[in-house]
Amino acid sequence: MTLALYNSLTRRKERFEPLDPNRVRMYVCGPTVYDRAHIGNGRAFVVFDVLYRLLRDLYGKDHVCYVRNITDVEDKINAAARANNEPISALTARTIAAFRDDMAALGALPPDIEPRATEHIAQMIAMIERLIAAGHAYEAERHVLFAVASDPHYGQLSRRSRDEMIAGARVEVAPYKRDPADFVLWKPSAPEEPGWDSPWGRGRPGWHIECSAMSEAHLGESFDIHGGGLDLIFPHHENEIAQSTCAHDGRPFVRYWVHNVFLSVDSTKMSKSLGNFLTVRELLDEAPGEAIRLALLSAHYRDPLDWSEERLRQARRSLDRFYRALTLSRDPVFERFGEAEDALRPVKEALCDDLNTPLALSRLHELVGAINRTSSDAVRSALQRALEEGGRLMGLLQQDPLAWLQGSARDEARRIEAQIALRMAARRERRFAEADKIRAALAAEGVVLEDRPDGSTNWWRRE
Ligand SMILES: [Zn+2]
Repeated sequence: MTLALYNSLTRRKERFEPLDPNRVRMYVCGPTVYDRAHIGNGRAFVVFDVLYRLLRDLYGKDHVCYVRNITDVEDKINAAARANNEPISALTARTIAAFRDDMAALGALPPDIEPRATEHIAQMIAMIERLIAAGHAYEAERHVLFAVASDPHYGQLSRRSRDEMIAGARVEVAPYKRDPADFVLWKPSAPEEPGWDSPWGRGRPGWHIECSAMSEAHLGESFDIHGGGLDLIFPHHENEIAQSTCAHDGRPFVRYWVHNVFLSVDSTKMSKSLGNFLTVRELLDEAPGEAIRLALLSAHYRDPLDWSEERLRQARRSLDRFYRALTLSRDPVFERFGEAEDALRPVKEALCDDLNTPLALSRLHELVGAINRTSSDAVRSALQRALEEGGRLMGLLQQDPLAWLQGSARDEARRIEAQIALRMAARRERRFAEADKIRAALAAEGVVLEDRPDGSTNWWRRE
């Protein structure tokens, strides 16, 4: 089966052909560790986790190398540490641990290599020296800047005009810059800021050079896939291309650029000031990680995804249905037959078509329909195997089905009882319209309440 990916560089869906099928190489920009991951970060890392799983399936799990860095030196980190009044190392250690917990809860496999920027300063300095020697960078007032005018291909990924590039980068117009579009490779550090000795004095790297140096260190000059959120195309990825190709005498850098689209919450852009900023941690208090993961995969990664309670509820219902189908009687003897593989093919084809996860999910639902319909033990067992394997490709359905269903029933009962408690409080306080609204909402999902003459609610049942 061949994989097709949409390449942001050519703006076309292309057949994926790795440079070396024995070592398929992917780099994804990792977190800047100053704050908890939000659900938009969660989307990006879950999407690339599906791609990683698919590549491992297609090329063998020992033939894929996935690098996702940790940006642990960046000005936002310094600002957050100052605001919290804690040492930078304590803030980054705590945030990295939390990030790993969040990713594990979302079912994302750890990458093969997770390089930290602070452990690659020597490689960054070496790359900057090469850029200066080749005439692509210059030192000015203890800064080192990339000379954008020295790279005739600059702008190939974002295809922006020069004015748009300058406006989009919100670049500082600094007197030491030859050109306002030039960007920082190295900058001086004040005594209280983190810094390393360099030929240009004590300082620290700019963000863009971090990824160029870390990808070179672990994947070489040229590799297959570079991923990240759409907002990274400019300036971050544009600058990575400029740095890496210019440091490598113009040799190609990345073959396939893959970008996931934004996530909104209840149809509005997520932002801290709007109060709709959702962290993965907060969502994990409300719902199992697997349901969050399925909800994130329920839209295609190149389509906007609107996060809502309803989408999450829908994801839980899908998982209930999948897991229920896996509890039906099953005979492992029949699973050896090629039928399982045949039944799995449409799911895999959907994923190989530029990671069409919504289509793959609807094909899992079709498998469940067939499992529920068949009266043959042999067919059912093969289809159950296919359902499980299709789930595995997307990082789903790897729990004990009964454990999932019991947990789900418990959560559901807790949620309904919380609504009933709200309704009773409303009734006690004679806010009858509100009480009726809660009752109607529960009735709409098939939950019937039995009120007692004294005004309390006796019990509830499903219609
Ligand atoms: Zn990066």
